[in-house]
Amino acid sequence: MSPIPKPGILDISPYVGGRAGVAGVAKVVKLSSNESPVGPSPAALAALDQAKASVALYPEGSALLLREAIAEVYKLDLARIITSGDGSDALLTMLANAYLQPGDEAIFSEHAFLVYKIATLANSATPVIVPEKNTNHALMVDVDAMLAAVTPKTRMLYIANPNNPTGSYLTRDEMAKLHAGLPKNVLLVIDAAYGEYVTAKDYEAGIELVAKFDNVVMTRTFSKLYGLAGLRIGWMYASAAICDAINRIRGPFNTALLQQLAGAAAVRDRDHFWKAVEHNNTWLPWITAEIRKTGLRVDDSVANFVLIHFPQGAKNAANADAFLNKGGVILRGVASYGLPDCLRMTVGTEDENRLAVSLIQQFMAT
Ligand SMILES: *Cc1c(COP(=O)(O)O)cnc(C)c1O
Repeated sequence: MSPIPKPGILDISPYVGGRAGVAGVAKVVKLSSNESPVGPSPAALAALDQAKASVALYPEGSALLLREAIAEVYKLDLARIITSGDGSDALLTMLANAYLQPGDEAIFSEHAFLVYKIATLANSATPVIVPEKNTNHALMVDVDAMLAAVTPKTRMLYIANPNNPTGSYLTRDEMAKLHAGLPKNVLLVIDAAYGEYVTAKDYEAGIELVAKFDNVVMTRTFSKLYGLAGLRIGWMYASAAICDAINRIRGPFNTALLQQLAGAAAVRDRDHFWKAVEHNNTWLPWITAEIRKTGLRVDDSVANFVLIHFPQGAKNAANADAFLNKGGVILRGVASYGLPDCLRMTVGTEDENRLAVSLIQQFMAT
């Protein structure tokens, strides 16, 4: 008899990322993976050169130099930061590895990031999926429904804030209410992958909750605003007890020196940070408004992407996707997120945004 994976593993649909190419189209504009159109900080690229000299050596295992940079910039307790050299995805997975066992339940919302379900099933635990609210301009996490889904078996609740692919967010007060309604033995994981983009005054990425409570984790990434998706750097902030658990199971050298140096340089480059924020603040509203003029529903977003709803029939999402592909633009189909009638578009460079919007206008006009 051949080896059999643990229960749950063969129920996982492997993660499929945003497409990177179109057959027969040489040069494509890739607006499918929420990567930064501004790219990385030049200081991060310079740090990569510097790191070359040391690749024969193991890195310092706690990623101290990267944690120091993060602690300084985000004003956090150094001892309660953990980094990852396989993105924040790996941290989201390690949290499940540390806290879920067969029979346990993990709650997340209907259109949540796919990694939560994968990490839950990989630990033979049970995903509990809660419907979202559909207001006419956004798909929103329903805090009351999330709390109503809690049972004695609940061990974790994952929430992306802002959420991908919907682009909506919970305010500081709504998140505090969600936390307050959870039993103390349930881990609240706040995935703030897009937190750097949010300018709304009533948003809080999770730092305040982590400071006050032992059962909260905030995860962050260098893949989005910092423009380093290819380098796979993520980090988390949590209580000492949670960090202790994760530090026991993470790889002893899980963040390469290359990643530590580039991440530290990136986080310290505040000019580049604000350049990326400003670019998004210019183009997110423009894209939203221009596409809405075609009559399509575009949801309010505080992140670096928008969710576009297409009608049934000739102007459906699949036809729009094909039309855009022919014009050399790739958006993200989000059927795997339970949104078969939608496409998600990442904010690109000015030229990319203009091209994508004009193709959508042509598609709707033909
Ligand atoms: C992109 C993204 C991440 C980050 O993934 P990395 O592994 O850090 O590249 C995490 N959560 C959500 C919701 C995302 O969209």
